[in-house]
Amino acid sequence: KQKQFAALRDKPCITRDGEHVALNINAGLLVDLPHIAETGAAGIGLFRTELQFMVAASFPRAGEQEKLYRAVLDAAGDRPVTFRTLDIGGDKVLPYMRSFDEENPALGWRAIRLGLDRPGLLRSQVRAMLKAAAGRDLRLMFPMVADVAEFVRARSIVERELTHLRRHGYLLPDQLQVGVMVEVPSLLFELDELLEHTDFVSVGTNDLIQFLYAVDRGNTRVSDRFDPLSVPVLRALKRIVDAGKAHGKTVTLCGELASQPLGAVALIALGFRSLSVSVTAVGPVKAILRQLDAGRAAGHILPWLENSGGDMQLRQRLLAFAAAE
Ligand code: PEP
Ligand code: MG
Repeated sequence: KQKQFAALRDKPCITRDGEHVALNINAGLLVDLPHIAETGAAGIGLFRTELQFMVAASFPRAGEQEKLYRAVLDAAGDRPVTFRTLDIGGDKVLPYMRSFDEENPALGWRAIRLGLDRPGLLRSQVRAMLKAAAGRDLRLMFPMVADVAEFVRARSIVERELTHLRRHGYLLPDQLQVGVMVEVPSLLFELDELLEHTDFVSVGTNDLIQFLYAVDRGNTRVSDRFDPLSVPVLRALKRIVDAGKAHGKTVTLCGELASQPLGAVALIALGFRSLSVSVTAVGPVKAILRQLDAGRAAGHILPWLENSGGDMQLRQRLLAFAAAE
């Protein structure tokens, strides 16, 4: 199997009926960078910047952050990289940062909430990204945004840093795209407004499913209680991908669902054409997508998803479809 996956490295990720899928990897540390070439990934769809902070003994200085981001862009070459600003708090604690006892850390002071309340941290990180991407393309996105107003505030921090660097004569990124993770369900009901303000969205199914089902993703007693390949989840994802198309904005998905071959099949059926998966999933996902007829998969799933009659056997349906293909 491993050999078979390795042989696919330089083959395009394209379905039997000719649909191109951008298959990216998730990364977060220097040690991940060789995986871009090893897997033949289209790029880095999610660079989790908090990992650098989590493995450090104290706050990485702005210069160290910039150095890492530059190394990432160097390693990626022409392939796009999407950096996500710090997603700390909740279960991702920094030992050197004062933490607060929170009854529900997943719902607490984390990610962009912390970034907007302590803008010094977010500003210096954004500045490090802008400097590292001087003369190149930069994509950055914010985690755990819950409404459009938060995104607008976060985006204005980027504008402010750009103005600052421009005024001081720094070379700026050639092209800048500012996006948002869709992982808090409230955004599902504000998608049109969000898509007017954002350049792209990336769906974080790990958190989105946790919040949709009110199930702690880290608590094994409940984390497998509901199947992610279920009617509510796929309907939510379809809304996002449809809204993105209507607004002509890129929608990608970087949660674990895309790393499961059957999950990837479902996502292609829903209309996703850009996925970001864990390194070990590139081979298996590419293998299955190259055998998939995206049009037939959509025809098999979508009408039924509209009108399932409460029948939750979606996984079985997908499995039967994949086996028959
Ligand atoms: C997600 O929530 O799906 C995601 C990709 O981000 P993380 O797993 O880092 O929370
Ligand atoms: Mg998340």
